[in-house]
Amino acid sequence: MLRIAIQSKGRLNEESLALLQDIGIEVDVPKRKLVSKSQTFPIEALYLRDDDIPHVVAGGTATLGIVGLNEIEEKGADVNILCRLRFGACRLSLAVPKSESYNGLEWFTGKRIATSYPNILNRFLKERGIAAKVEIITGSVEIAPAVGIADAIFDIVSSGSTLIANGLQEVESVFESEAVLIAYPDLTEEEKALVNDLLFRIESETVSRCKKYLLMNLPEISLDEAIKILPAMRSPTVMPLATKGWCSLHSVIDASDLWTKVRQLKAIGAEGILVMDVDKIIL
Ligand code: ATP
Ligand code: MG
Repeated sequence: MLRIAIQSKGRLNEESLALLQDIGIEVDVPKRKLVSKSQTFPIEALYLRDDDIPHVVAGGTATLGIVGLNEIEEKGADVNILCRLRFGACRLSLAVPKSESYNGLEWFTGKRIATSYPNILNRFLKERGIAAKVEIITGSVEIAPAVGIADAIFDIVSSGSTLIANGLQEVESVFESEAVLIAYPDLTEEEKALVNDLLFRIESETVSRCKKYLLMNLPEISLDEAIKILPAMRSPTVMPLATKGWCSLHSVIDASDLWTKVRQLKAIGAEGILVMDVDKIIL
């Protein structure tokens, strides 16, 4: 039986549960329960604050965990990072009041920086040889300069709107983060086999989420060019249409390339282009 530590509420909770559900693992959503056993896979979910997840997995109380890479880096937890999960993307950045004219890292010399990530910040400052004072604050770091607790902040940024709302400007991006799957380093053979099964499912899921399935009608004379535009997993599928001189072309592409490829395909005569989500890709 595996046990996976998941954030009980907060930014990673919903997407962690959605990922489990998408790979066929149903668990109860956390209300007052701390643990919930899956009926469909030998695993139970343990709901915790994200700060506690690295430690609980490092100690083996949970075999697996879903947490931001920022928390692992900050806590220096001895866990194995099994895979990136492609959600919870953010960065840890230094920000200073908008009114300051920032001229490089030297600006921070002698300044007070408020943060909930003192270890990552101290390491960064030490590497760059900057002597600043780190003020540890556990919540609402972004208001520290306005209330006079600090001159600058080091905090999580995703869209940057919180910084703007607090009259701050992001000046250095220090650490890129996203949600990751972590594991206790000392699993039994039986646990390893279960984890491998889970990992296989997660990888299929995370790959398929950023893919699109494309199908279209194409004049046969454009086929060679279309194949150059669509380098599918092996090569695109081509099927004849009832109308002479036309074929149907199917392929899987990166979602990020969608609009570029669609424009190129239309330019060589593609018609009736259908774009569909991919449920799973088993490579
Ligand atoms: P908890 O109560 O579990 O301790 P928290 O308040 O520490 O929750 P959240 O704000 O829910 O944490 O964020 C959890 C994680 O989500 C962060 O550690 C980070 O990895 C990720 N994240 C992604 N985008 C953001 C963002 N804009 N602000 C904060 N965290 C973000
Ligand atoms: Mg937390």
